[in-house]
Amino acid sequence: MADCLFCKIVAGEIPSTKIYEDENVYAFADIDPQAPFHAIVIPKQHITSAAEIDSNNSALISKIFEAIAKIAKQENLENGFRVVNNCGADGGQTVGHIHFHLLARRNLAWPPG
Ligand code: 5GP
Ligand code: ZN
Repeated sequence: MADCLFCKIVAGEIPSTKIYEDENVYAFADIDPQAPFHAIVIPKQHITSAAEIDSNNSALISKIFEAIAKIAKQENLENGFRVVNNCGADGGQTVGHIHFHLLARRNLAWPPG
């Protein structure tokens, strides 16, 4: 998608610190980390938000979670981690390309604010 920040990151038009990449998934360091480890995990294909997941693209979401498990091993997140998806305005989504925050290396409060 031409005007999408995360599509530009996937294309290398905007630099990012790569954490993981495969055929379908790209993960990079969040520019404003909320935990000592904070990755953004995205499908390379543009999906606007979790509200747009359907039977045509849901296989990509499985790929995202396969990638998250690989990243957890790669980064030695054996103490655990949190996966967060913000969807839409009330959900706090600020970038319109579906993404999953992968947060780790601190004790994360529950329930979240
Ligand atoms: P959201 O608020 O939409 O759930 O999450 C968007 C995330 O993208 C935020 O945590 C924000 O810090 C991160 N972000 C926004 N712009 C950039 C950028 O240009 N580079 C990187 N690495 N992260 C970004
Ligand atoms: Zn996009």
